[in-house]
Amino acid sequence: MQSQIEKIATMLKLSKNTVVVTGAGISTEAGIPDFRGTNGIYRKLGEDRVMGIINIDFFRQSPHEFYAFYRKYFAFPPVKPSKAHQMLAAMESRGLIKAIVTQNIDNLHQQAGSKRVIAIHGTADRYLCTNPGCDGVYDQAYVDAVAGVVPYCNQCGTLLKPDVVLFGEPIQHFGAAQEAILQARLLIVIGSSLTVYPLAGFVKEFSTFTQDLVIINKGYTHLDHAATVKIDTDRTGDLLESICSRI
Ligand code: NAD
Repeated sequence: MQSQIEKIATMLKLSKNTVVVTGAGISTEAGIPDFRGTNGIYRKLGEDRVMGIINIDFFRQSPHEFYAFYRKYFAFPPVKPSKAHQMLAAMESRGLIKAIVTQNIDNLHQQAGSKRVIAIHGTADRYLCTNPGCDGVYDQAYVDAVAGVVPYCNQCGTLLKPDVVLFGEPIQHFGAAQEAILQARLLIVIGSSLTVYPLAGFVKEFSTFTQDLVIINKGYTHLDHAATVKIDTDRTGDLLESICSRI
């Protein structure tokens, strides 16, 4: 492990453009379970069932059932950024990383102080009015306070949608995420099994043309074979601290 840590530290020192890709695994230490882990909803309820409900068509057809499920399973506990989130924010301040592309919807990178965060699946604590002529934006407190299960806009009475990318919807900031990843010299993936597309596709494309791919994840990922260094750990914060202490 020590030689792998040294190797990552050296790559970070030499790279003029390091980008970090994060998935649900970076937030488990903060107290938010991932989907595929032992406490995750894919294990508890089945992936097909979740994908059938957290789906744009289902949302449009059955908003009541959608919100009953969403409120039960997607209401994140009030947690604070983990050491890993804080380390990444500190690394950006030191000029060691240029951007974070994240699949997470928990806002923890931003709360930790990271400035350039490309959140491709949106943000769970924001709700948008679905009336195209209305610009209503609401926070979690508004939605928690509504009397019924389904929240409506208090300006025009139209259904609100969580500002998260549902199955069947395109990701947000597609171009910015793709460009950041493909222009990187060093890419560090943290806490993602690299299953979800298109992000996994961007990382795959990066690995085809550039050597310096680092993967830090508990367990297997679909691009382990392409990584220059793969570290299997669930103590990401401590690991990032060890790496940074060598730079
Ligand atoms: P995933 O479930 O495919 O991968 C998470 C990976 O992280 C797994 O391989 C797991 O073994 C690993 N992991 C778990 N704890 C870890 C730790 N402490 N350190 C290192 N690795 C750890 O998740 P994904 O590919 O990121 O995303 C699936 C989808 O789930 C995404 O669309 C994302 O939006 C959504 N999601 C988001 C959150 C969040 O915002 N915190 C939480 C759950 C799911």
